[in-house]
Amino acid sequence: MAAAKDKGAAQTQVAKLIMALRSQGVTDPGVLNAIEKTPRDLFTPDLFKERSWEDSALPIACGQTISQPYIVGLMTQALTIEPRSRVLEIGTGSGYQTAILSKVSRLVYTVERYRTLMKEAEARFAILGLTNVITKFGDGGEGWAEQAPFDRIMVTAAAQDEPVKLLTQLKPNGVLVAPVGKGPVQSLRRYAGDGKGGFKVEALCDVRFVPLLDGVAREL
Ligand code: SAH
Repeated sequence: MAAAKDKGAAQTQVAKLIMALRSQGVTDPGVLNAIEKTPRDLFTPDLFKERSWEDSALPIACGQTISQPYIVGLMTQALTIEPRSRVLEIGTGSGYQTAILSKVSRLVYTVERYRTLMKEAEARFAILGLTNVITKFGDGGEGWAEQAPFDRIMVTAAAQDEPVKLLTQLKPNGVLVAPVGKGPVQSLRRYAGDGKGGFKVEALCDVRFVPLLDGVAREL
C-alpha cells in the first residue's frame, strides 16, 4: 500500500514538472517524453533524493551539479536533434543530460574529466539499459577528434570564450549549444552551421553553469 502511494506521489511530481517545463516553453514532445521517462532520482545523491523532481539544479559528487530539468529541456530542444543524429556531450556529470540525449538521438558520445563521475554515470546507463551511449574520461575542451564530425554538440559546463575548437568538430549544418562566459552567470548560446563554414549565433538566455576546466581532474 505504501509503495503504491509512493508511486502515485512520484507520478504527480513528474506530471507537475512536465507541466512547469511546458509553461516555460519546452514544448518538443520528444524532449518532454524523454524527461518524463527518465528517473531523475537515479541520478541524484541520497541527501537530495526527495528533491529529484524539483525543477532545480542539485549538488553531486566532486563539487559538480546535476542540471536543472528546465535547462536540460531547453538545451535539448535548442539542439534540434534528429533521430539519426550523432551527438557529442561535454561534461557527463551525473549522466542525466546524457540519458535524455540518448532517448532522442542515434548515438551519444560523452566526455567527463572526473573518473568518479564517469564511473557512476556508466553504472546508471547500464541500469537503464542505454546501449547508444559511448563514454570517455578526458578533457572535453579538446572534443573527440577521432569521432568527429558530429551532427550536434552540447556543452554542459561554461566555456570562457567561444568554443572554437569544438565548432571545428561540428558538421557544416550542425548545431552546438553551450554556456559561454567568464562570470557566475553566462550566456547560453546556440551556434547553427550555415553549411559554408560560418555560424549563425543566437543568445538564448542567461544560465549558471560550473566552469569548463582545462585538463582532466587529478583527484578521483
Ligand atoms: N550534464 C550534467 C551536468 C554536469 S555539471 C548533468 O546533467 O549532470 C558539468 C560537468 O562538466 C561536471 O561534471 C564537470 O566535471 C564537467 N567538466 C568540466 N570541465 C570539463 C572538461 N574540460 N572536460 C570534461 N568534462 C568537464
